[in-house]
Amino acid sequence: MAIGFHLHQTQIKRMVIDKVTKVKDRRPTLQFDDETFELLMDCIHCGFCLTVCPTFALTGDETDSPRGRLYYMRLLAEGRIEPEESVLNHLDRCLTCRACETACPSGVRYGFLAELTRAQLTKRGKGPTRKAKFHEILLRYILPYPKRLEFALLPLRIAQMLKLTEWFNGIPFFARAINMIPPLPSRRWRKMPEVFPAKNGRKLRVGLATGCVNSIVLSRTNWSTAEVLSASGCEVIIPKSQGCCGAISLHTGHLEEAKKFARQLVLTFARYEPLDAIVLTAAGCETTMKEYGHLLADDPEVAELARNFASKVKDFCELLDEIGLPSPLKPMPMKVTYHDPCHLAHGQNVRQQPRNLIRQVPEVEFVELPESDWCCGGAGAYSLLQPEMSEMVLERKIANIKSTGAEAVITSNIVCMMQLWYGIQKHKLNVRLITIADFLRAALPEV
Ligand code: SF4
Ligand code: SF4
Repeated sequence: MAIGFHLHQTQIKRMVIDKVTKVKDRRPTLQFDDETFELLMDCIHCGFCLTVCPTFALTGDETDSPRGRLYYMRLLAEGRIEPEESVLNHLDRCLTCRACETACPSGVRYGFLAELTRAQLTKRGKGPTRKAKFHEILLRYILPYPKRLEFALLPLRIAQMLKLTEWFNGIPFFARAINMIPPLPSRRWRKMPEVFPAKNGRKLRVGLATGCVNSIVLSRTNWSTAEVLSASGCEVIIPKSQGCCGAISLHTGHLEEAKKFARQLVLTFARYEPLDAIVLTAAGCETTMKEYGHLLADDPEVAELARNFASKVKDFCELLDEIGLPSPLKPMPMKVTYHDPCHLAHGQNVRQQPRNLIRQVPEVEFVELPESDWCCGGAGAYSLLQPEMSEMVLERKIANIKSTGAEAVITSNIVCMMQLWYGIQKHKLNVRLITIADFLRAALPEV
C-alpha cells in the first residue's frame, strides 16, 4: 500500500515536471520505469556523499560528485537534457566504487542506478567505451576469455622472462595495460584439479570460481585459495570450463552480454551441486554474482538457479572468518597493511573479516592503512578508460601506503592488485604486494 502510494506520488511528480518544463513528445535518454525513477528521488541532496567521493575530491566539481551525477541521471530520465559529451564525461568519470552508498543516510542505490544508466547509454552508443574502440575490443572480446587472454599475453610472458618489458613502454594503448600486470605465474598453475579434498575433517563442500583474468594473471592465487580452504576443512570443487562472470560487461554497460556470461556460469555450477558456498577472491565479481538473482530474474529457465547461486556466493575471507583457520599457523614476522577493495568494503560490507584473519597469523605486525577503503583508481576498466583520473586517484593511495612504513600490502581483488602493482613499480616502493590468499597460504602449518 505504502509503495503503491509512493509510486503514485512519483507519477504525479513526473507529470508536474513535464508541465513545468513544457517537455512534450520527448523521448528521454534514460527509460526508467516508475519504480527505478523513484530510486533517484531517494536522494535528499544532503551532500554527505561528497566528502567520500574520490572524483569530487579531485575536481571539486559538483557534477563529478554522486549528488551531481544522480541529478544528471534524473534530467536524462526526464528528457530535460540530451546526452551531450559535457554530461557523459562526468558520468564516465565515476569509478563506481560505491563509497557514496556507504556514506548515504538515505540509502540511495547509486551502484545499481549507475550500472543501469551505463547500460542504457551504451545501447544508444553513448557508453563509456564510445571513444575507446581498441579498449572495447580488449574488454569485450579478449579479457573475458581465458584462452584468448593467455594467447594475447604470450609476448608479455616472454618479455617478462627475458626482462625486456620496457620495450612495451613506447607502444600506444599498450603501455598502461602492460605495466599493470605483475609477473605472470607459470602456466602449470592454470591446470587445477577438479577437487581439493578437505583436510582436518570436512566441514563444507564449496565451489571455487576461478574467474577469467584471475585464472591467468593470478592463477597461483587460485591455488592458494583452494589450499587454504582445503586446510580449513572445505572440500573444494573447481568446475571445468568456467568463464567470465559478466562483471566486466556490466561495468562497461553491456547488460545483455553480462546476462549471457552469468547464465553460463550459473548452469556450470549447477552441475556440481550440492554446494554449501561458492567462493572467490575477486570482489568486483563477487558483487556481480551476489546480484545474479536480480540480473537473471527475467530468464525463466535459470531464474531459480540464479537465485540459488547468488545466495551461496561468499568472499573467501567472509567464509574463512566463519569456519576458522587451521592452527597452529606459522609465524610471519613482518609489518603489513591492508587495502580494502571497494566492492568488498562498500559493495559487500566485508571489512573486519580480512583483518581478523591477518591478525591471527603469529608475529605479524598489522598497521591500518589511512583511508584504506578509498578507491585505488583501478575500478574495473577505469584505469584503461580514464587513465589520467585513475593515476590521480592512485597517487593518494600510494602516499597512504608510504605513510604506514609497511613491508607488505595485502589485498584481495585482481584489479586492485594490478593497479597497486603499477603504482608500486612507478614509485619504486620497497613494498611487497600480496593477495590475502597467498599470505594465508604461506602461514599454513604444512606448507
Ligand atoms: S561510485 Fe565512487 S566515484 Fe562514483 S559517485 Fe560514488 S563515490 Fe563518487
Ligand atoms: S548522501 Fe545520499 S541523499 Fe545525500 S546527496 Fe549523496 S546520494 Fe543524495
